[in-house]
Amino acid sequence: MLLAYYQLTNNQAHKGFIMEYKQGNLAVTQLMAASNTEKKFDAKRLKVTNALQTTLSTSRLITLFSEQIKPFIKQAGLEYSNDSVNTEVKTGQTALHSCSYNLTIETEELGSLKVMRRKRFEPAEVEQIEALICCLIYPLRNALMYKKALLSAHTDQLTGLNNRTSFSQSLQHEWDLAKRYNAPFSLLMLDIDHFKKINDTYGHIAGDEALKTVAKTIKETIRDSDVAFRYGGEEFVVLLNNTSEPGASLLAERIRQNIANLVIAVEGSTLSLTISLGTAILGESENGEELLQRADEALYQAKNSGRNRVFSAG
Ligand code: GH3
Ligand code: MG
Ligand code: MG
Repeated sequence: MLLAYYQLTNNQAHKGFIMEYKQGNLAVTQLMAASNTEKKFDAKRLKVTNALQTTLSTSRLITLFSEQIKPFIKQAGLEYSNDSVNTEVKTGQTALHSCSYNLTIETEELGSLKVMRRKRFEPAEVEQIEALICCLIYPLRNALMYKKALLSAHTDQLTGLNNRTSFSQSLQHEWDLAKRYNAPFSLLMLDIDHFKKINDTYGHIAGDEALKTVAKTIKETIRDSDVAFRYGGEEFVVLLNNTSEPGASLLAERIRQNIANLVIAVEGSTLSLTISLGTAILGESENGEELLQRADEALYQAKNSGRNRVFSAG
């Protein structure tokens, strides 16, 4: 009775696309009443199900699904998207006609899927597509659960930024890209000034609020392609690809100003704070750890020369 647990819901027609399938919720009982032809189809579906259980990668799963349904349905391409895990997968080509579904299991949203082609889908084909999507739905849920677990392991729970665990991996990744494309790469390290005093004066809960606001301000100030981390207690790092001087210092200065201008509301009161920053640009024969070390030294100098300022490593 597994089938009774999920529901495929039609999307509204996308502008510029002709929607062929306008029915509302899929009647699951229809799928379960099997004729002989349907029984043969069920055996084939079992093969599809087995194939789909071989991966926990969402993008691989959608690509696999696209390959697996080819013997059943002629289609030009598939599009899958799921904002909750920041995932978008496209296979083949876009085409005029499409069947679109919002995939859910009970109240759990699994993203949306669109099957496209140049020729209209016949009602019998739509039924087949839906029966095949039934094979996808549980492997997809497993892949999404896996992806969410990975994301959560790499996310700082308080601020929502990437955490220290993911930092080394990202630093190596950005370093590799900078070397491969011979692109400039910078690192920015920042630390809240006298944060201990903020905790002592306003309490730890207010301190946590301040950390969240600082993280949000960093995120809002940097580009989408920059990656921010909570590196330690009140210490943050930002990786800036395709950036050298003066870009790194300008961005550091903008973050400093935006944070200095904050007025953070905490239980019945408000607080303001400042940060110190160190920046470093990747040197010719430098590795990631050495770059981090130089940014840390620059931060130390910013602290020593009075705080609330940016210091660039030479
Ligand atoms: P400096 O300007 O030299 O950086 O001084 P500071 O007081 O910021 O530096 P210090 O390293 O002495 O203190 C850091 C403080 O950050 C102490 C610690 O209690 C606080 N802290 C670290 N993590 C958290 C957290 O998750 N929440 C709160 N509320 N405080 C934290
Ligand atoms: Mg500090
Ligand atoms: Mg510190």
